[in-house]
Amino acid sequence: MSAVLSPEPAISTALQVLQQVFGYPAFRGPQGPIVEHVCDGGDALVLMPTGGGKSLCYQVPAIVRHRAGRGVTVVVSPLIALMHDQVGALHEAGVAAAFLNSTLDGDEARRVERDLLAGRTVLLYAAPERVLTPRFLAQLQSLHERGLLSLFAIDEAHCVSQWGHDFREEYLGLSALAEQFPGVPRMALTATADAHTRADIVERLALQGARLFVSSFDRPNIRYTIAEKDDPRRQLLRFIRDEHEGEAGIVYCQSRRKVEETADWLKAEGIPALPYHAGLDAAVRARHQDRFLRDEGLVMVATIAFGMGIDKPDVRFVAHLDLPKNIEAYYQETGRAGRDGLAADAWMTYGLQDVVNQRRMIDESEAGEDFKRLQRGKLDALLALCEAHDCRRVRLLAYFGEASLPCGNCDNCLNPPATWDATEAARKALSGIYRFRNAAGSGRYGAGHLIDVLRGKRTEKVAQHGHDQLSTWGIGADVSEAQWRGVLRQLIALGHVVAEGEYGTLALTDSARAVLRGEVPVRLRQPPEAAPRGRTRKERGTAGAGKAPPLPLDEAATERFLRLKAWRAEVAREHNLPAYVVFHDATLAEMARGQPASLAALGAISGVGAKKLEAYGSEILRLLAED
Ligand code: ADP
Ligand code: ZN
Repeated sequence: MSAVLSPEPAISTALQVLQQVFGYPAFRGPQGPIVEHVCDGGDALVLMPTGGGKSLCYQVPAIVRHRAGRGVTVVVSPLIALMHDQVGALHEAGVAAAFLNSTLDGDEARRVERDLLAGRTVLLYAAPERVLTPRFLAQLQSLHERGLLSLFAIDEAHCVSQWGHDFREEYLGLSALAEQFPGVPRMALTATADAHTRADIVERLALQGARLFVSSFDRPNIRYTIAEKDDPRRQLLRFIRDEHEGEAGIVYCQSRRKVEETADWLKAEGIPALPYHAGLDAAVRARHQDRFLRDEGLVMVATIAFGMGIDKPDVRFVAHLDLPKNIEAYYQETGRAGRDGLAADAWMTYGLQDVVNQRRMIDESEAGEDFKRLQRGKLDALLALCEAHDCRRVRLLAYFGEASLPCGNCDNCLNPPATWDATEAARKALSGIYRFRNAAGSGRYGAGHLIDVLRGKRTEKVAQHGHDQLSTWGIGADVSEAQWRGVLRQLIALGHVVAEGEYGTLALTDSARAVLRGEVPVRLRQPPEAAPRGRTRKERGTAGAGKAPPLPLDEAATERFLRLKAWRAEVAREHNLPAYVVFHDATLAEMARGQPASLAALGAISGVGAKKLEAYGSEILRLLAED
């Protein structure tokens, strides 16, 4: 079958597709050039932050190329559990999409294959292990011979690298696609790729000739806050109640047990929450994920096992109760907030114990020395971010190689933290650790006991070891306990002190000497009780309550918005899809505000494509005209 080539230049066709099929007025950021390049048959490596809009980068070319007679785009994705909703969203937009995975029964799979071989399918989603089966490769070969294999889009491409945090063995086999289907363009997409991972992607997916597209990693609508741990659960509860009552969010914890406990506790406090971690039964996990996607205002308490590929647009916050592994992980996890572009929060508490735990996990892992060194370096960068008293976003973007100016939308910009000169205190802490060596007892103690000695607190342990005889006894009574914890955290973060073993006993490193001599100035953030509390969301003036619209609407418009939402819930239930697949909140709010009275006016609203207009337009106009 010979290709019928469209006479128009690719970009204007692509823009038409964006407007007509997806209902969006314009490409965002570098989407335009990416789409143009891929429509023209170029290979591409696309690096875009989570929520940046990667899907359209292959969906639009897939449609453009299919219309030009070039056949199917195969989307390789590791996320079987999400394929149903992704394909459902494309169906809502009127695109012939399908998926092949183990959840289909034999009849369904055969129907998908029939459409595929007939050249009807525009986008086919499949996991790598499925793509690489002899049966599927033979089908692709048949399409290829007829000029009906248009494009491979390899999503979550960092999974091909052992250096990334989501390595998947099956991804390694994908290099076969380049060999077996020469001339078929391939694009790889990911939100996380440091230089190392990027090199792996290029090499293992044979993308040496691909054009590289790196977007700005800034997510301006996300507000970053990193708070010192005081009473973390209470802090979390206050944060949710003050800023995100009734809204959807994710709370990340490190261990399965903590996930369970935190979810139970939130529930007991009246916040709807569900746990998610790899220790739960697959069916339970799927059910919880489904509820998170379909219900409103649910909080998912999860380990990092949750989140990849979750494209729910109205996640209003991502909270970390434990320190993530590194800045890449932090950025990917927090990036799941606010995909709809509306205000969202990335909120974290962290403390001395987090630093100790993360260091220990690296030290005790089975990995080789090289790998450990790399992980330690990455942890250090994250700790520097936590301890920073300047703009968090400037630091985050700098980590990804981007220069920027203070953002005005992070805790440090909004409430510049007070700092104090901790140089003297740091010296005292180091000599405190040093003095233990020659004292009675084991010679090694944890942070708690050191602080007691420095503050001259008479505890049983002090008495038992005679530590009130040390020259460091009580030399730091003027510094509060919270401040001391800050000093130690910083000293550990900077590598002057190590905390070892189960009890986190402290020891000096070589670099401690210069600090002891007073040669290294140490400035620290003032601990929380001294710092002013940030303004709450309600004080910020943006919609806080979960049921409220994302734009300021008057009473009558709010009324309409709620009516539209009720209707949408109905449609979503009928189609067995999450509500946001039908329309985003922002689109409904815009309808409620503008109250369009004709199909043409309704179709001009962002997010209303031709198919949805046809399917739902008159019903929506009726609902809008009701008052
Ligand atoms: P990613 O896969 O990069 O994390 P998505 O593809 O899920 O991001 O896109 C994030 C959100 O942005 C989605 O809700 C999508 O509908 C929206 N979006 C993407 N591109 C545009 C655009 N050009 N105009 C309006 N909305 C867009
Ligand atoms: Zn800032």
